[in-house]
Amino acid sequence: MNVADSQRVGSSLEHLGYTFTDTAEEADVIVLNTCVVRQSAEDKALGRLSSLKPLKEKNPDLVINLMGCLVGVRGAEKLRKKLPMVDVFSPPSDPGPLVSYLTQGEVHTLETGETARRYQIMDGDLLLPVYEQGQLVSVHVPIVYGCSHACTFCIIPYKRGAERSRPVGDIVGEIRSLAAQGVKEVTLLGQIVDRYGVDVPDGPDLPALLRIVHEVDGIERIRFLTSHPNYFSEELMDTVAELPKVMPHIEVPIQAGDDHVLENMKRGYTQRQYRDLVAKIRERIPDCSIATDIIVGFPGETEAQFMQTYRVLADLRLDVAHLARYSSRAGTVATRRMDDDVPDKEKRRRFHLLENLQEGIVGEINAKLLGQTVEVLFEEKVKGRWKGRTPTNKLVFVESDDDLRGKIERVTVTWTGPWSMQASLVRQPAVISL
Ligand code: SF4
Repeated sequence: MNVADSQRVGSSLEHLGYTFTDTAEEADVIVLNTCVVRQSAEDKALGRLSSLKPLKEKNPDLVINLMGCLVGVRGAEKLRKKLPMVDVFSPPSDPGPLVSYLTQGEVHTLETGETARRYQIMDGDLLLPVYEQGQLVSVHVPIVYGCSHACTFCIIPYKRGAERSRPVGDIVGEIRSLAAQGVKEVTLLGQIVDRYGVDVPDGPDLPALLRIVHEVDGIERIRFLTSHPNYFSEELMDTVAELPKVMPHIEVPIQAGDDHVLENMKRGYTQRQYRDLVAKIRERIPDCSIATDIIVGFPGETEAQFMQTYRVLADLRLDVAHLARYSSRAGTVATRRMDDDVPDKEKRRRFHLLENLQEGIVGEINAKLLGQTVEVLFEEKVKGRWKGRTPTNKLVFVESDDDLRGKIERVTVTWTGPWSMQASLVRQPAVISL
């Protein structure tokens, strides 16, 4: 979601005539987009902000915009005093405050000989460098903002506000414009993406929206995340299976494999129901890959309860498991009512057990692709090799002197590992006409 927000603010700045720079010293505007889902993310964001201090001291005209969950939906009043070097505070997903600050109500047009002003976007947590317009193949498009579910460990509803579906016209307008700029793949985003439209009577739901987006010329691949197990309908499965542009890859977190822990998390399902959902997805969407999220060391999680999670992961053999150690966030129900009683050392041990288990599983799943031909959408060249993804979202690297950016090519897999694969292009022999 933060990447999508950064893309959005970049696009707004380009509309104002700014150009992107990857050098902070050259920037007239620096946007620091922040995540606070874990304490370490918040610490990193504040660390990055203080690293900008010397730049601001050298150039007082530099505009620093702090954006995202650190600011939250309730605004910046408390932060203003603490962070005087910040010129503009923006809540998540909203480039509005920055745009008003920069334009003061007027759009600046370049005078002859004047160089365009430059901007840089930094990610406070992931160190994802940046966002550069015009070169993008794959873009994240938010379709639902906020979340009203209130899982007990989660800070997001407090930071991003209540669930709001974006109007279908806005979404499709944005996707058409992205397609016109050469974007080939869109990932529709929501904290609970499969609840899209629930708050809009008469509006489309997610299956209907997928059908509408499927008709946009130029968009060749569609993905969506993150789904919640309780809302993943059979109709949604059948829509994914039926529409060729919708990729067979589902992100649906379980978070824990023990019913008591799931109840304490207020997730709203049992491990049995999650297992059944995975079975149904596999039955209805052939060759589908499935990703999950898991938190270890939730308050009160015993060794036996953790082992239930271990067993679920071992049994289901999913393609991806995003793992996290529980991190207490001020204001959440878990922090207010539960004791963060699993020692950090124990959280790390559980994390590594799952990590090793999953590494073995994914290594075996990917090894089955060795020698097979798959279609890859290529995004960019990284250290001399083209990077792309299969329909099931596996990372593939290919060596080629051709410009593969934005192209879908058939490749033969020549090496597999748990986190990526290597492949070579399958090219049709040239037809010689005599
Ligand atoms: S569904 Fe739960 S974990 Fe996901 S954003 Fe909403 S409250 Fe947080």
